[in-house]
Amino acid sequence: MTTQEYIEEAEKSLLHTYNRYQIVLDKGDGVYLYDTDGKKYLDFASGIAVFAFGYNNEEYNGALKEQIDKLIHTSNLYYNVPAIEAAAKLTKISGMDRVFFTNSGTEAIEGAIKTVRKYAYNKDGKTDHEIIAMKHSFHGRSMGSLSVTGNTHYQDPFKPLIGGVKFAEYNNLESVKELITDKTCGIILEPVQGEGGVYPATEEFLQGIRKLCDENDILLVFDEIQCGMGRTGKMFAHEYYGVKPDVMTVAKALGCGFPVGAFLTNEKAAVLVPGDHGTTYGGNPLACKAVSKVLDMFADNNILENVNEVSAYLDTKLQELCDKYEIAKEFRGKGLLKGLVIDEKVPVNQIILKAMDLGLIVISASGNVLRMVPPLVITKENVDEMIAIVDQVLATF
Ligand SMILES: *Cc1c(COP(=O)(O)O)cnc(C)c1O
Repeated sequence: MTTQEYIEEAEKSLLHTYNRYQIVLDKGDGVYLYDTDGKKYLDFASGIAVFAFGYNNEEYNGALKEQIDKLIHTSNLYYNVPAIEAAAKLTKISGMDRVFFTNSGTEAIEGAIKTVRKYAYNKDGKTDHEIIAMKHSFHGRSMGSLSVTGNTHYQDPFKPLIGGVKFAEYNNLESVKELITDKTCGIILEPVQGEGGVYPATEEFLQGIRKLCDENDILLVFDEIQCGMGRTGKMFAHEYYGVKPDVMTVAKALGCGFPVGAFLTNEKAAVLVPGDHGTTYGGNPLACKAVSKVLDMFADNNILENVNEVSAYLDTKLQELCDKYEIAKEFRGKGLLKGLVIDEKVPVNQIILKAMDLGLIVISASGNVLRMVPPLVITKENVDEMIAIVDQVLATF
């Protein structure tokens, strides 16, 4: 089939929930993707901050293949070895105490929401607890996650959502303080907002929120689904701030392509007990083999060092673009989670499409931001390659 035929076929049967780019991706190798016409793309999206090690990694693929032949699924009625190993490694590397494996990011958020509600319920037996979330946040598409996602465009068609959620201004501590009542059970936020426009939290904000939570016995939830797993140059973004959450969600690069997420808690927040929560697939041997292998590979391949070295180089190159082109206004972010802010007069999607023509895949974030979330194994040469294309594209406006 030709690309056009594939696309026509797709649009007959897939629910049209995405305006997809008009290419059909066929295979990947390292930091490159290939479409069904054989065209090669440098990948600065990694499947939305997922494929940290790049595509077709022999070690990762090998571990999964081995596990497929051994045992794929058991349910959570029994223990399984990969889940035991993955849980031990993930709690150790995160400094959290307990983990629950899910199948996606949004499910990890659901678990976090249930955790903060249950924690407060255990204290006073009441059912009127409130959660504070942030404007311009993104936490997922299921009803609970959507309820704490600060974007009315995503929320409105699906109301009523879960009750008791209030939205504060990100990086505005006063706005959080104003919303706290004796009913507040949790505060949820991304240490670096991804989808919302690539905004890192300020130190004052995160440290201030931690203090507010401690003073009022409120659980603090960090959504590290996008900014965690080495993306910012530390294993988890909150490590930059010297602030620890009570509950943390991870997904995206946790399985590096295999769909898996998790929510983690400290002992204090480990309040869910038998009967409270469950999942058929979550934490199955195949998913947990992926997690276990990914965590080993982070340690064995000096991934964080590469992120820090290459992202410093990326920063200088992005600054050069900002100096050179008026429509490239500024860049934000940490590590290899970067947003190049484009002047409103050029819709960022036009830049993405032109870049794609020239063999580069990048994505956007809210606020006309060109979002760069490449595999964490990219090199400075790959950065040069990306910059050359973006430079060429910006020059056309
Ligand atoms: C992607 C994302 C989610 C949702 O994860 P899914 O796996 O798509 O459900 C939640 N929070 C953040 C910060 C994300 O980037």
